[in-house]
Formats: sequence, C-alpha cells, structure tokens
Amino acid sequence: MFDSLQDRLGSILNGLTGRGALSDKDVGAALREVRRALLEADVSLEVVRDFTEAVRAKAVGAEILKSIKPGQMVVKLVHDELVSMLGSDQVPIDLNAPAPVTIMMVGLQGSGKTTTSAKIAKRLTERQRKKVLMASLDTRRPAAQDQLRILGEQTGVATLPIIAGQGPVEIANRAAQAARLGGYDVLILDTAGRTHIDEPLMVEMADIKVASRPHEILLVADSLTGQDAVNLARSFDSRVGVTGIVLTRVDGDGRGGAALSMRAVTGKPIKLIGVGEKMDALEDFHPGRIADRILGMGDIVSLVERAAETIDAEKAAAMAKKMQSGKFDLNDLAEQLQQMQRMGGMGGLMGMLPGMARMKDQVAAAGLDDKLLKRQLAIISSMTRDERANPDLLKHSRKKRIAAGSGTDAADINKLLKMHRQMADMMKAVGKGKGAGMMGKLMG
Ligand code: GDP
Ligand code: MG
Repeated sequence: MFDSLQDRLGSILNGLTGRGALSDKDVGAALREVRRALLEADVSLEVVRDFTEAVRAKAVGAEILKSIKPGQMVVKLVHDELVSMLGSDQVPIDLNAPAPVTIMMVGLQGSGKTTTSAKIAKRLTERQRKKVLMASLDTRRPAAQDQLRILGEQTGVATLPIIAGQGPVEIANRAAQAARLGGYDVLILDTAGRTHIDEPLMVEMADIKVASRPHEILLVADSLTGQDAVNLARSFDSRVGVTGIVLTRVDGDGRGGAALSMRAVTGKPIKLIGVGEKMDALEDFHPGRIADRILGMGDIVSLVERAAETIDAEKAAAMAKKMQSGKFDLNDLAEQLQQMQRMGGMGGLMGMLPGMARMKDQVAAAGLDDKLLKRQLAIISSMTRDERANPDLLKHSRKKRIAAGSGTDAADINKLLKMHRQMADMMKAVGKGKGAGMMGKLMG
C-alpha cells in the first residue's frame, strides 16, 4: 500500500556509502522522506515537525556503519528516536491506591470505551485476581448501559444495576458507594462520548471526575484517528487530565500515527492496545512494533542491527587475513583489542581463525579479561604512530615515556610486546597451515 521508506531513502542516499559521517545535507534529504512517511501514517503535522528536528540533531555527524547504506542508517536513527518518543517502558495500569481504585474511561463515541472497559475488567479479574465493578455513565445512548451489562455477563464481571432516569454524576456516586460497600478492589467508570469534542462533553467529564476522584483516567482513542489526534489528546488532557492512553483497533490497517501524536502532545504513556472485538483482544503496548508500523518498514531495523554485528565480523575477518599475511603491527593489535572488547572478549576473533574455535576457553583461562585489554590499549595509545608501526623502535627511554603516559610500568609494556610478537608469529604459522600447536606457545 505504501512505498517503503527504505526504498525512497535508498534512492536519495545511494552513493554516499563510505563517507564516514552523515552530513547535514544527507540527513536533510532523508528527513524529507521520513516526514512524508510520518504524514502518510497520520502523525500530526506539528508532531512531525518536532520529531524530525529531534532526529536531525542526533543524526548529523553520526557515524555510518560501513557495511550498510546511509539510508538504512537514517532509518535506524529515526526508528530509535521514534521508540524513545513513544516511551520505551511498559507502563501498566496503576492500582496503587486505597480500594476501590477508580478508573475512568474517556474518549469520543465509538472509540472503544465500553469494549475496553470490559476487556480491562476481565484482565484485572483474571490476571490480578481483582474484584472489579463496572458502571456505565452513558445516559446519552439508550442501549449503552445495557451494552456494558451484557459484556459484564459475558466476562463474569459485576456491573452496577441500571436505574433509569439518573444522570452521570448520580450514577458515579452510586457506583462509588456500591464499590465501597461491596468490597470491590477496582471500579471502572465507562462514560459517554460524542462524535466530536464539544464543551458539554468536557463539562460532563470534569463533573464526573470531581465526583469520583479517579486514580486513572484513560483516554481511549481509535488508532485510525488522523490529524485530529493532537486536538483530541490535548483537549481531554487539559480539561480532564489523563493518566494514560489506550489505543484501539490496532488490528486494523492503520499505521498508528495517532500513537505518536498523542504521546508527543500529552507526554502520557500508552498503556494498552486493543487488537480486536473479542474480550481478550487487549495487549501491552510495545513501542518498537508501533514504530515499525508507523515507518512501514517491517524488518529494516533488525536488518540494520544485524548489519552492525556483521560489520564487526567483517573487520575481524579482515584482521585475520592480515595476521595470516604476517603484516601485523601494533596498530593492528590495538584494533584487534578494541574489536575484542566490542565482541565481548577474545572469543569473537578466535572463532574466525581456522583451527582456533576451540581455543576460546583457554584464552579466557589465560586471563585476557577486560581489565587487561584496557591496560594494553592504554599502552598502545601512548605510543607514537611510528612506534606502533615499528615496535623495534621501543628501547628503554621510549618505554619509560609510554609507561608514564599510560599509567603502567616497563614490565607491562614488555608483556604486551611479547604478546604482539607471539601473535604475529602465530598468525604467520596459521597462514602457512600449521595452526593449532602454536596456541600453547602464545599462552605459555
Ligand atoms: P464506545 O462508544 O467508545 O463505548 O465504543 P465501543 O466500545 O462501543 O466500541 C465501538 C465498536 O468498536 C464496537 O463494535 C467494538 O467491538 C469495536 N472495537 C472496540 N475496540 C476494538 C478493537 O481494538 N479492535 C476492533 N477491531 N474493534 C474494536
Ligand atoms: Mg460506550
């Protein structure tokens, strides 16, 4: 249905590979496409603007991983920023208050308030063993209170008996009393909506809030809500004050841009998502999934993540080749040590060398740990370029200078040089096919 963002960015940014860092111009071009993708996903204009600026600030100057295209790099940055804006932590419904804890559901008509009330009630009953009472304060539509009663019967959750002729605040007060007297843990108040936001609705919600002092006020919104999402979220939040958002119809075709809009405008967490009409079609919110969906890019991010791993593997393979050719100076050693750090120790590199996969444990046993790696790297970085390229230059006075510069002593330096020599020899031998036995010598 939509062009993939990746395709579009790819065509803009192809040919930039290997430049090192993303320039202002690269990022600007890419962000124009990102902006288009976000607007297609129905993220509100003002949120799109803020978001792209936030990404721009982070992206310009960011290093491009060598084995992936700059376009993919930008997608990764956009995705990461999106996830962080959507809220990386899962925030559950907060029941941390004296019983009965009141949850008030607000939102437009048809957004899914009544359905979600029953879904939440069912979830709290089954998963948290809560005793839940539901009450419908929707006196506008004749069948609304019946709808909730029927859902209560279906899910085995109690509903407040319906008394004709009462207004929303009256019902709210009666519900609070029933919940107290009945020893309920949680009271869920389902309210009436309107097709659009208007003053009477806001007044009604504010009155109910004053009467029932809800601990949670959940704004229920259809994930297909487009540019209205900002206005919707802002109105409810400023007039009534919401504590969280429930996004419904996430099972539909929409790209879910409303999630970002509402979150950005209110700063309130998206607590749950509705994924169907059935009573158990309620899930925790996972920002990564919504981010993928908003960008319409499926597996791109995991591809980028894998690329970031492969690049390490590629470097290691190139290093292995270099070692086998016998050209292996201290610059190479430093790079290799850094590589080891990144790959979580000696294991990664060893796995790439023929005949050495099984040596990993021995390496670990020899104490090539993080502390040692760090010390060795400090020594090498205290050397001049010439010294690194030609370790034979390292006589006594130079060693003294390096020891002072790296906070080590001559013995440490000698140990490093010895290791370097042995590794260089070993690699040469491996290159000539003599492999395994040399490892023992290195460790000795
Ligand atoms: P209310 O007016 O806000 O109370 O909305 P309702 O709870 O009555 O829901 C309106 C319609 O949306 C009903 O037909 C629900 O079954 C349906 N609905 C609610 N949540 C979801 C959802 O997450 N996915 C789908 N597909 N339908 C939903
Ligand atoms: Mg309803």
